[in-house]
Order: sequence, then structure tokens, then C-alpha cells
Amino acid sequence: MAIKQAEDEISPYYQFNSLYPWQLSLWKQLYSNNIAADHFPHALLFSGVAGIGKKQLAFHLARGLLCQSPQENPQTGQIEPCQQHDCGKTCRSCRLFSAGTHPDLYHVTTPVDKKVIPVDDIRTLIQWSVLSSQLGGKKIIIIEPAEAMNPNAANSLLKTLEEPVADTIIILLTNKKQALLPTIRSRCRTIDMALPDKQSVLHWLSEKNLTDPELMLSLTSGAPLLAFELSQGSQLEVRHLIIKQLLSVMTDSIDPITVAETLFKQTKIKPAKGSRKKTDNKKLLISAYDIIYWFDSLLSDIVRLAQKCTQDTIINIDYYDSLQQLSNRLYLKKILQLTDSINKAYFEIQGQINVNLLFEKLLIDWKNCQK
Ligand SMILES: [Zn+2]
Repeated sequence: MAIKQAEDEISPYYQFNSLYPWQLSLWKQLYSNNIAADHFPHALLFSGVAGIGKKQLAFHLARGLLCQSPQENPQTGQIEPCQQHDCGKTCRSCRLFSAGTHPDLYHVTTPVDKKVIPVDDIRTLIQWSVLSSQLGGKKIIIIEPAEAMNPNAANSLLKTLEEPVADTIIILLTNKKQALLPTIRSRCRTIDMALPDKQSVLHWLSEKNLTDPELMLSLTSGAPLLAFELSQGSQLEVRHLIIKQLLSVMTDSIDPITVAETLFKQTKIKPAKGSRKKTDNKKLLISAYDIIYWFDSLLSDIVRLAQKCTQDTIINIDYYDSLQQLSNRLYLKKILQLTDSINKAYFEIQGQINVNLLFEKLLIDWKNCQK
């Protein structure tokens, strides 16, 4: 799904010259308090859900650890890399960092169009790690997402974690800490990053002139960067179109096979050359994954409402009234069975399955949830 990818896309290095407001206290704890004492763990594991800025913090920390003249920021009173200040002085390290050419920074991520970090990439990294620092300071390694390392790659890295190289700091980023080898986790200092405080995130989103920050944050389970990204792309329109089609089966008695075909046709639209977004609903690009995802989200809300959960647990808050009414008209047991089918559909659409037939079956089951 598009809104899951906010942190997965490679951002230019110059974007890492600041922190998000909710990261300032963690920054102080991680950097300002440790840099003066020149005391830093050799391996860190940043763990937390996607869309809270782990990558931003990791690269900013790398910049700070490599900086040759960290200074106190008069506004925050915190020690920060010199790139932060407007004093006209920037060290060589920070200049190289901004250009994306710092010789003592090594960033490993999944190769384009692949989902795993291969062992060869980790072996190359290990060879690099034993070389001397080019600028005479520390060397920083960032691996993200760490759970993408295949077992061989993870075992290869393990040896380096067990026998740390002097002045080399490894920062691992993960959305799925439990997917990492326990031996990897135990050799890192884990920093669990919680979702930021809702009010401060709403303030941050409001400053960016989002039309409905509360809804964006609800749809992205409180992850601010995902909320921002959702508001920028066509995902919101995609979502409305899908939900309206799904609800029409129940509220307007539209034939489920007709709705399945309508949705399937939307997945077949080819993108216009050079354009990723469409504002015309008739030409909106929708993936089979989008349909399954928002169907899943809708069903989860209906289950919560049927179980009398409180309103703040509902994700699709703009459809609250419709979902509340629906929850009274549907068999909970059948909704739960449909949820199982939806969970299987996530995997089925990645294979050779006839997607149109799959949609038809799911939509017929949806219709049959009615009492
Ligand atoms: Zn600097």
C-alpha cells in the first residue's frame, strides 16, 4: 500500500538536517547527553512502526556523530551538528554529508525491486567496516530495514556485532523487531520509539495546512509521516471510491458482482505517461492491494463497533455513522469469516489468481453478512 512506504523511499541526504518536533527529547537522550562524554554504544536498534521518522533520526544522528565541531544550538540549548546553525561555519564532514558523499557513512538498504538485503551486501559492508576512517573520526553504518536481511546476511552481520570495530557505530532500523534474530537484538541497544503524542502531531500536521489532520492521523493509526503522505497523494480519493463501492452493496443493494467488476476495472487502468496521480475518479489508479486493504480496514471497524468498542478505536471516522448502522445489521460471525478470507487475499493477489473472481467471491460473502 502506498501509505506504508513513507519511510521506505530513499530521501536525499540534505533532508536529514533537522528533526521532527516529537524527536527532540530522544535526541537529547541519545546525542546531546552522550557526545560530550564521547560515550556511545557500538550498535543501536531503532524500533517502531513505520511513519514516525526513524530514518530521519538515524541519519541526523549519523551526521551528529560524524560532525567535527558539534555546537550548542542557542534556541534549544542542545548540542547539535554544526550544519544546524546559522553562524556561517560548517565543518568538512557536514558538507560531505549534505552532498551525500561522506566516505565514513555506509548505508545499506534493499536493492531496487527486491525485498531482501542479500548476504553479499553485508559482506561488502563488513570489508568496509575494517578500513580506517577517511576523516579520522567515527564511521557510521545504517542498515534499514534490518528485518530485510536474509538469514545468511543477518548471521554475517552478527560476527561484526560480536566483535565491534573501534569507532564504528552500527544503527539498525526496524518496523518488525520480532522478525530479527534474537542474537542480533541482544547485541544492540534497543531504542523503542513510541507513537508520538497525538496533540503535538495534530499541531505539526495543522501547520502543514492539512484539511483534516484528525482523519489523516486516524487512517494511519497515529503515524505522522504516513498521515502527511496520505494527504498529499491520491490515496484518499482511492479510499473514498473503494469504500463507497463496498458500502453500495449494503446501502443501495447494488449487485456484488457489478461492484466487483467496477473495482476490478479500476485496477486495470494504465497510468498516464509521466503521471502517478489522477484527480479524475474515472481514471483513478487503484491496485488490488488498495481494495483489499480498505476492505480489511472497514471490516475491522465493523467488528469493533459490533463489540461495542469506543469511538476512538475506529479508524474510518468519517464513515462512523454508516458503519455504526451497518454493525447492527450484520452477522458478526460472518464478518469474522470474511476477515479471514481478506487476510488470505493479501497473499493470493501476489500470485497468479484470477483477481476478478476473487473480488466477486469476497463481495458475495460481504453481501451475505446481512441478517
Ligand atoms: Zn559539522
